[in-house]
Amino acid sequence: MSLIQLEHVSKWYGSFAVLTDCSTTIEQGEVVVVCGPSGSGKSTLIKTINGLEPFQAGKILVDGVSVGDSKTSLTALRSQVGMVFQNFELFPHLSVMDNLTLAQMKVLKKDQSMASEQGLKYLNRVGLIDHKDKFPGQLSGGQQQRVAIARALCMQPKVMLFDEPTSALDPEMVGEVLDVMVQLAHDGMTMICVTHEMGFAKKVSNRVIFMDQGRIVEDCSKDEFFNASANRSPRAQEFLSKII
Ligand code: ADP
Ligand code: MG
Repeated sequence: MSLIQLEHVSKWYGSFAVLTDCSTTIEQGEVVVVCGPSGSGKSTLIKTINGLEPFQAGKILVDGVSVGDSKTSLTALRSQVGMVFQNFELFPHLSVMDNLTLAQMKVLKKDQSMASEQGLKYLNRVGLIDHKDKFPGQLSGGQQQRVAIARALCMQPKVMLFDEPTSALDPEMVGEVLDVMVQLAHDGMTMICVTHEMGFAKKVSNRVIFMDQGRIVEDCSKDEFFNASANRSPRAQEFLSKII
């Protein structure tokens, strides 16, 4: 069974179709890059996977559990589907360590010492152990994003969703966040990354999904996507010509 299955997912805001008939499957350990023009539905699509965006038609299964089912616990689902946003979304009034332990204690019911141990492990992994007692505002954007990744990893998710994790960063900080993501990919994490970092896509992704106007227009191997002679859609062709 695939780790994630999207079957004919559609979503409307009133009469505006933000997602139209989106289907794909993601296997355990796959790294999938989602790209496409602004407003094409990329954020909406990945947010449907952890229940942050409801959808009106179709079906989404995460490890066999149906996301849209009213019996499915969204809290349990979100603990298995880590998400990293463009703007970090750390709790500004909590220290780095408290950011890392809060959900572990509240959702996973871990005690403080176990949560801290796990927090330190992942903080070490993103190279920020020396900053554990700082507040988010005392860190650079790149460091905040690495904390956000560590925080998501503390929940030991089955899959990590990234929504343009480097696009709010100053250019000199993009590399440190991508390095953490590359490491994560090499460690075998299943990842779905909305990003325009085509260097990252070329280096570590298995697959590229290209979206346009709420539809999945291309869903192919990285090699196919980046092969100039491949039979790509005109929209993907145009998109690539602008960003590469
Ligand atoms: P992307 O991440 O590819 O830039 P989004 O998923 O954020 O695209 O948005 C897709 C489309 O849905 C955009 O045209 C956006 O304006 C529209 N949209 C997003 N949220 C809402 C909302 N709450 N109400 C109406 N339209 C929305
Ligand atoms: Mg977006």
